Amino acid sequence: MNKQLATGLFALGTLMGSAAMAQETFISIGTGGVTGVYYPAGGAICRLVNRDRAEHGIRCGVESTGGSIFNINAIRSGELEFGVAQSDWQFHAYNGSSRFEDDGAFEGLRAMFSLHPEPFTVVARADSGITSFDDLPGKRVNIGNPGSGQRGTMEVVMAAMGWTEDTFAQATELPAAEQSLALCDNNVDAIVYTVGHPSGAIQEATTACDTVLVNVDNDTVRALVEERDYYRMATIPGGMYRGSDEDVTTFGVGATFVTSDAVPEETAYQVARAIFENLDQFTSLHPALANLDPAEMVSDGLSAPLHDGAARYFSEAGLMD
Ligand code: GLU
Repeated sequence: MNKQLATGLFALGTLMGSAAMAQETFISIGTGGVTGVYYPAGGAICRLVNRDRAEHGIRCGVESTGGSIFNINAIRSGELEFGVAQSDWQFHAYNGSSRFEDDGAFEGLRAMFSLHPEPFTVVARADSGITSFDDLPGKRVNIGNPGSGQRGTMEVVMAAMGWTEDTFAQATELPAAEQSLALCDNNVDAIVYTVGHPSGAIQEATTACDTVLVNVDNDTVRALVEERDYYRMATIPGGMYRGSDEDVTTFGVGATFVTSDAVPEETAYQVARAIFENLDQFTSLHPALANLDPAEMVSDGLSAPLHDGAARYFSEAGLMD
């Protein structure tokens, strides 16, 4: 190659390089505590998106946050582009109900796809005398940090049970990643976490000290599940965690991946493509994601409309009409 041509090509390469850089799109995914499932699931999404960065120019980053309600509010304010959120809070945000009544309906909320099931999980110290959810009154209970999905869902169940924070000897608001240690340090008798299984947090709570997962199954809970589409009864399989050899019956929601209509169509398209074209790899990145089924992921637990970009990918891929 002659020198002039080489220099010309070099200059062209530099130009193209800076053009590509100028086009780089940054997206942030709001997740939850680092020992939950949202955080590693968000990491898995970013890993697959970033792998094709040369092609689409999207740089994906993950943030540990307070959880579902925080994530939805941050997407609404434009602070985050994507987030993981419980199906019940996706429903309420889009409809402006429950916790979202004061702010009004978030009409720009868009669904991408659903993820893993999240049973409402209650872990108690073995020495606390708690053997079921009904034993919580009079005990020290971590009801969760404001902004977390479990705090919101716990408040709904408490209201249905006729409980208030005064029902407990103490109601603490520790973030998810701190609650297992608080349980084992005997600062609380029980913790509540709406989370996929297995999760690092529940593993920590069941191995660092003697604890039990308890049933959350009574007439009030069954009536809630009956009334509301986004709840279902759920089982945490026996043998998954130390101290809990029997199946645990509770109710649960689904984890969903959400965004807003302010996020460009092409960005949402590329994110959906990165996950569904590499679904085997995605589901192998965390054991709580192992049983995901693509047909369910494009419909289950999604009450906000699909983002146009995700919808385009799903129809091209034959996942929906
Ligand atoms: N469901 C929890 C929440 O919405 C988070 C669970 C997790 O981080 O895996 O706050």
